[in-house]
Amino acid sequence: MADNKFDVIVIGAGPAGYVCAIRCAQLGLKTACIDAFKGKDGKQALGGTCLNVGCIPSKALLDSSKQFWNLTQHFDVHGITAKDPKIDVKTMVGRKDKVVKQLTGGVGMLFKTNKITPFFGTGKLLKGNQVEVSGFDGSKQTLEAANVIIASGSVPIELPFAKFDNKYIIDNAGALDLDAVPKRLGVIGAGVIGLELGSVWRRLGAEVTVIEALPDFLGMADADIAKTAAREFKKQGLDIHLGAKVSKAEIKKGAVEVTYADKDGEHTVTVDKLLVAVGRRAFTEGLLGDGTGVKVDPRGRVEVDEHCWTGVDGVWAIGDCVRGPMLAHKGEEEGVMVAELIAGRAGHVDYDVIPSVVYTEPEIAWAGKTEQQCKDEGIPYKTGSFPFAANGRALAINEGVGLVKIIAHAETDRILGVHMVGPEVSELIAEGVVAMEFKGSSEDLARIIHAHPTLSEVVHEAALAVDKRSIHKAN
Ligand code: FAD
Ligand code: AMP
Repeated sequence: MADNKFDVIVIGAGPAGYVCAIRCAQLGLKTACIDAFKGKDGKQALGGTCLNVGCIPSKALLDSSKQFWNLTQHFDVHGITAKDPKIDVKTMVGRKDKVVKQLTGGVGMLFKTNKITPFFGTGKLLKGNQVEVSGFDGSKQTLEAANVIIASGSVPIELPFAKFDNKYIIDNAGALDLDAVPKRLGVIGAGVIGLELGSVWRRLGAEVTVIEALPDFLGMADADIAKTAAREFKKQGLDIHLGAKVSKAEIKKGAVEVTYADKDGEHTVTVDKLLVAVGRRAFTEGLLGDGTGVKVDPRGRVEVDEHCWTGVDGVWAIGDCVRGPMLAHKGEEEGVMVAELIAGRAGHVDYDVIPSVVYTEPEIAWAGKTEQQCKDEGIPYKTGSFPFAANGRALAINEGVGLVKIIAHAETDRILGVHMVGPEVSELIAEGVVAMEFKGSSEDLARIIHAHPTLSEVVHEAALAVDKRSIHKAN
């Protein structure tokens, strides 16, 4: 095969694109992957938003800030005091950068071992499954493949009245790279990104004001979970305003004056930095040449069917640039599905059981239907909940906050949803996902032996609670 001819070309090396490329290569397909992302050092960096300015760096800073928060807020109960703890933001951000570099470099190594040809530059899909690559060095070349997979990801939504300058008005990348703790941080949007990044800087000492247009807090989560989380965030000093829509942000005297309106009228709050975290939009600019036949919906997302096929022979699209939740693991699984379909195998993504996690303190995680969704859909259901406050391990580690709630079908007992807020629930949710994928019942979880003492016993007890037979609480 000529150097510019491949079985598969993937445009974008975020988690959707690079995982897809690896699976294609594993299945014996000659694979190329094009990516345009430049890291902080101005050099090409694989891994997309997730590895460079998303999932991984946010979790690195969440961990650093959690250590500091525990040191200043929670160590005294253990009889530990530390004199005058200090934060060196440069070291903290430097550690985050190192983790990012290790992982983005790791993707490069995986490309090498899987014999995937990387191209650094911008890919543009042309008619007839050709892809024009405009290299970082100004070069242009045209590649060809039987199959092209678009995995161009997403970018932060910019508000017209609060344009990013990344000095005062910042996006996720800016909030992951501050060189000092701002005295006052404003956050527009109480979604996952706003809450996680707001938490990072709150724990390090910033006064954080979160302004959210919707009246309900974390409306996509189960109401019991959202209520507990809201109470805990308030205790931590996150000043969250709901039903409050921002309409103006002006830079005045080295600060940002933010105007928002709620049921009581118009208010202004002055902050040193303003993080705009009002969601992300699919990125497809400059991606599609004339006459490709690939359609883009009104929200800028590439249109696909349930198998991520665009309707054009050999053209697929996966990850944040298509419908569905903007989550790395959703894109990864779509990448695997498409690779397997191209290789003539079966491929499927179960969109009903995609776990969602918010890595705040306490963590929040869920999969499947909320109680409200069951009500709206007229599904008969029963629920069981168990608090971390009644779990030995949670108390032993001073983390007795939160609960696990299981929703099961009232007649068949099949698990419909698992909802959690509390310690390590980002890990515990996997049990709920496995149970749901195996079409398990609450009785199945209730009969499985969970090690003692572990946090996972809260899942066990919640399953027992569905039939009012929890052991360590009154039913
Ligand atoms: P991306 O990761 O956006 O990658 C797309 C890549 O394609 C980029 O490198 C881009 O430069 C490149 N590209 C675009 N157009 C072209 C072109 N024409 N030619 C060549 N290259 C192109 N998700 C989770 O599941 N868990 C989390 O904890 C989590 N935390 C997050 C925290 C933050 C702060 C943010 C911002 C996001 C977070 N996300 C998280 C979301 C997650 O990052 C995205 O869902 C995920 O990165 C989407 O993967 P993707 O491959 O579709 O796109
Ligand atoms: P997510 O899409 O989960 O990242 O969340 C973004 C949040 O930002 C949503 O809950 C929106 O309601 C909120 N939002 C969008 N625009 C505004 C605005 N102008 N003022 C306040 N909140 C907003």
